[in-house]
Amino acid sequence: MARPGGSDTVPVAREAPARAGGRIDIVGLSRAAMRAAFEQAGLPERQASLRAKQIWHQIYHRGITDFAAMSDIAKSQQSWFAERFAIGRPDVVEHLVSTDGTRKWLLRTPDGQDFEMVFIPDSDRGTLCISSQVGCTLNCTFCHTGTMRLVRNLTAGEIVGQVMLARDTLAEWPRPGESTVRYAADGRMLTNIVLMGMGEPLYNFDNVRDAMNIVMDGEGLALSRRRITLSTSGVVPMMARAGAEIGVNLAVSLHAVTKQVRDEIVPLNRKYGIEQLLEACAAYPGANNARRITFEYVMLKDINDSDEDARELVRLIKRYKLPAKVNLIPFNPWPGAAYECSKPERIRNFSNIVFEAGISAPIRTPRGRDIMAACGQLKSASEKKSRAELDREAAAQPAAG
Ligand code: SAH
Ligand code: SF4
Repeated sequence: MARPGGSDTVPVAREAPARAGGRIDIVGLSRAAMRAAFEQAGLPERQASLRAKQIWHQIYHRGITDFAAMSDIAKSQQSWFAERFAIGRPDVVEHLVSTDGTRKWLLRTPDGQDFEMVFIPDSDRGTLCISSQVGCTLNCTFCHTGTMRLVRNLTAGEIVGQVMLARDTLAEWPRPGESTVRYAADGRMLTNIVLMGMGEPLYNFDNVRDAMNIVMDGEGLALSRRRITLSTSGVVPMMARAGAEIGVNLAVSLHAVTKQVRDEIVPLNRKYGIEQLLEACAAYPGANNARRITFEYVMLKDINDSDEDARELVRLIKRYKLPAKVNLIPFNPWPGAAYECSKPERIRNFSNIVFEAGISAPIRTPRGRDIMAACGQLKSASEKKSRAELDREAAAQPAAG
């Protein structure tokens, strides 16, 4: 189906089924859709509009998950809402905390699909890494998620729900009586979001866009677009729309500088080549020196890590005049992977060459190794457990909040 700005459709099994019990989950609906849902359920137009405004504030600003706790709504109407609507969170199958403070969740959708989320605290920020799909249709050879069968896109509600769940766990909603002003001030743990979990966000464009617009809404979660980064493996036709309709920071999984190597490790390169990708980066709105594009580069021993590769990377970035920084990611091995991580000295040499050309090239330190915080690892470990065992664990999880 042709869409303005181009589209790139991939086979996706199906959308999410309705919630059990027939209630509509309002997390993830736009303001207009929430109003419409209330009207459709029988509220007169003006009341639907007022209630949508109040409930929006309650769920996205205060983190309320129960209509009965919404003191600005009459008791009788609270139960009217509770019978028809739900305020969802993904279910928690596992929640692990690393010795370095990194947290990892294995989450489950209402129809039983498991996906991951990671929180990485640093001294000056806290980054939540969220998923956009269950699995991924692209088969990057070094990525464990790429070996999983895509089950489905996550809905906007399931994407926003991850951020809400993290706020629940970190106790970062305002407490009753706490002033709005203080809450809006900085000093929270969760300050940044990266769409770097499972899935390719630009293959689930509409849901990712809707979810990010809710996350950025000033009357709700209110995260600045400057604190959100969308990572793509290079879905070129969707990049302009991402800039125009989402407008967050862009990270591009480059990983190789020659057609031959990138074709092999990021097979999407056969469809959209390096030149096309870098042109799309140069055209990305808002790309300037203050908001640089991040190029992710996974360090694979003897594959993409030579001095020559580093020099070619510099040449490409300069040729397209890209305001860029390069994130060098040590390869995180997983059972059955065909690669090894480059030696630390090799990574340092590579970083120095890029750095000496005036381009920042930090080496990312692996975090949460003890809890398998690398992409796709927790999900695959849990798949070794029986379904019954996981269900028991999910049932034993304490309520969020
Ligand atoms: N699909 C998107 C976003 C999710 S992957 C993308 O590819 O950009 C997030 C980042 O983790 C990507 O840069 C990806 O290439 C990288 N990654 C995946 N598997 C990895 C591994 N085993 N070791 C290190 N980085 C990995
Ligand atoms: Fe998908 Fe990104 Fe993994 Fe490639 S690196 S398989 S695009 S999740």
